[in-house]
Amino acid sequence: MQNAKTVLITGASRGIGRACALKFAKNGHRVIINYNKGKNEAQELVNIINENGGYAVSYQADVSDAAEVEEMFSKINERFGGVDILINNAGIAKTMMFCDMSEKDWDEVFGTNVKGMFNCTKQAISYMVNKKYGKIVNISSIWGMCGASCEVAYSASKAAVIGFTKALASELGPSGICVNCVAPGVIDTDMNNNLTNEDKDELCAMTPLCRMGSVDEVADVVYFLSGDESSFVTGQVISPNGGFVL
Ligand code: NAP
Repeated sequence: MQNAKTVLITGASRGIGRACALKFAKNGHRVIINYNKGKNEAQELVNIINENGGYAVSYQADVSDAAEVEEMFSKINERFGGVDILINNAGIAKTMMFCDMSEKDWDEVFGTNVKGMFNCTKQAISYMVNKKYGKIVNISSIWGMCGASCEVAYSASKAAVIGFTKALASELGPSGICVNCVAPGVIDTDMNNNLTNEDKDELCAMTPLCRMGSVDEVADVVYFLSGDESSFVTGQVISPNGGFVL
């Protein structure tokens, strides 16, 4: 086990973020669970971690709102000094034909998936630069690599996550900060609740491993990119996708 670090995971009340929180906690790290609407789910996760010998706290903030993120970081900085590891995971999808998409829909997707990452990273990096150490992992998607019908805003936002990762990795490398990206394939979470069983079967049939991925399989990759085993890895996109994109 590496030394205990302070890790902030955005959107950790459910799904992939929740699995990451459990993974970091199990490995002895101090876990900060950010949530937006899922107060009960976040509190339940804090209780599970703390009752099992881990250390977790939760803070509410809509990551798309710079003032709320600043407020969350002022509490984090007061309590922990700052974060060593930032996982920009909070994300939303809006599945619809591009011609039906409103400006509001577009702004909401980019607000959470791109501006949320900007807001949190902006607040996190001064502490990392001072320590000459930091790990930032941004969650993109296979749709940000290859695009998907009825997911134009989502795909564009997730492509932006990849561009942001590569540029920031170049800029922050000399400060000892690694910035990487995880681009999962189709993972079994609430985000895919809108898919019919036929949709899911079709996606599984397009996947060489013939199934959806689990949240734990994504958390394992996020954890690798946050630890000492990936110390010479930065600016990379790792895609746990069952072979969907080759
Ligand atoms: P999910 O189960 O729908 O959970 C989304 C999480 O994001 C929730 O904890 C939610 O918190 C949080 N969130 C949403 N908007 C937020 C905001 N404005 N501020 C703070 N938190 C916010 O989704 P998931 O499948 O775990 O997805 C996690 C990440 O993986 C996303 O970035 C997603 O795009 C990406 N991803 C998912 C898949 C997939 O197939 N599932 C594939 C590739 C990439 P509250 O409930 O508290 O509001």
